[in-house]
Amino acid sequence: MSRPRLGSATTCRLCGAQSLTTFVDLGASPPCELFLTAEALDLPETTYPLHARVCEACLLVQLPPLIDPDETFTEYAYFSSFSSSWVEHARRYVDAVVERAAPSFVVEVASNDGYLLQHVVARGVRALGIEPSANVGEVAREKGIDTLTAFLDPGTATAVRAEHGPADVVVANNVYAHIPDLLGFTEALRTLVSDTGWVVIEVQHLLTLVEHCQFDTIYHEHFQYYTLQTAQTALATAGLDVVDVELVPTHGGSLRVWARPSSVGATPSARVAEVLAQEAAAGLDTVAGYAGFAQRVSKVRDDLVRFLLDAARDGRSVVGYGAPGKGNTLLNYCGIRPDLLAWTVDRNPYKHGRFTPGTRIPIHEPERIEAERPDYVLIMPWNLRDEIVEQLAGVGAWGGRLVVAVPELEVIEVGAP
Ligand code: ZN
Repeated sequence: MSRPRLGSATTCRLCGAQSLTTFVDLGASPPCELFLTAEALDLPETTYPLHARVCEACLLVQLPPLIDPDETFTEYAYFSSFSSSWVEHARRYVDAVVERAAPSFVVEVASNDGYLLQHVVARGVRALGIEPSANVGEVAREKGIDTLTAFLDPGTATAVRAEHGPADVVVANNVYAHIPDLLGFTEALRTLVSDTGWVVIEVQHLLTLVEHCQFDTIYHEHFQYYTLQTAQTALATAGLDVVDVELVPTHGGSLRVWARPSSVGATPSARVAEVLAQEAAAGLDTVAGYAGFAQRVSKVRDDLVRFLLDAARDGRSVVGYGAPGKGNTLLNYCGIRPDLLAWTVDRNPYKHGRFTPGTRIPIHEPERIEAERPDYVLIMPWNLRDEIVEQLAGVGAWGGRLVVAVPELEVIEVGAP
C-alpha cells in the first residue's frame, strides 16, 4: 500500500494527499476521559498531541490516529440510556426513519446499550446492533435487542450481511468521527445496506464548531470533523450518495445525513444545496476559509486566562462546574491548574474524588459550591448552559457570578446579590 490507510500527521486518510496544513494546534494532553485517582497523581501521565489539520485537497479536518479506538471504547463505556433527553431524541429519530424508509430490517452501528434500537424493536421491526464494547452490548441483549460485539469493518459487514441479509436502513450515530479507518468503515456501511436502502449518519457539524468556536469539542477520540461537503466526499468513496440532510442541535450542532447507494439514482433534496451554500458562505469550501480559526481560539484562551489571573490577584475564588471531556480540552489547552481553578464539581459520582486529566483539578460533588460560596463558577459544559444557569441561580445569593469561556468570555449575573 502506498499510503497509511489510517492517515497520519502528513497524509490525508480520506484522499491520500500529502497536503495537510494546520487548522488548530491545541498542544498536547492526555485522553480527555482518563480521570486520575489520588494515587495516580504521583505517577507519570502520557499526553498526545492535539493538532488538527485540514487537507488542502479534500478539506477533511483530521487528527492523526494516535489513540486506539479499541481501547477507548472498551474501557470508557458510556451508557446512552442514562440521559433521558437522549432517549427521547432517539425515539423521535426512529419515528423519522420509519416514516421515510418503512424498513423491515434495521442495523445500527455503535448501538450502545440499545437506547435507539429499543424503539425499532417496539415497532415490531427486526433490528441488529453492532457494538464494540462488550459490557454495553450485554445490557442491550438483556433488553432483548440482538447485538453483535464487534467493531464495524469490511470483514464484519460481509459476515453480517451473509448471516442476516442486507439492511433496509443502516444507522450510524456519533461514530463516524470516531473511526480512523474512514474508508474501510464507509465501505462496510455500503456492504450492510441493501441496493435500495438508506444509510443515516449523525455526526458533529464542523460549520457550527467553527461558527461558535467550539474548539474544546476537539478530542483525540474524534479523528475527523465533517462539513456536509467532506461527508459527501467520504460517502462517495463507497458509492453512497447524500440525498438529504438535516441540521440537528445535538452536540452543539450536528448533521443528520441521509445517503443511498448511487444505483438508486435519487435526486438530492434542496436542503443539501442549502447546507453546502451555508458552508461556502462561511468559507469552508476553500482551504483559505480555515485559516482564521486558530487565532479566534487563542483569543478565547487569552481572555479566560487573563480573567483567572485578575481574579487571583483580587483575591476572588473561582471554581468550575462540570468535568466533561470538552472541559479537559479547554483546561489543558489553556494550562489551567488548581492555582487558577481550585476545584470543580460534577454530577457523575464516578468522578468524585478524582482529578481532571493533565491539569489535575480535584472533582467534588455539586453541593460543595453551596458550602464554599465561591465568587465565580466557570461553566464548562456550555452545551447545557441554560439548564446549569438555572440550577446555579442560588450562587447570586452570596454575590457570586457565573462565567462561560466559549464562544467568548462572558460573566453572567444570577439572582439578587
Ligand atoms: Zn484529503
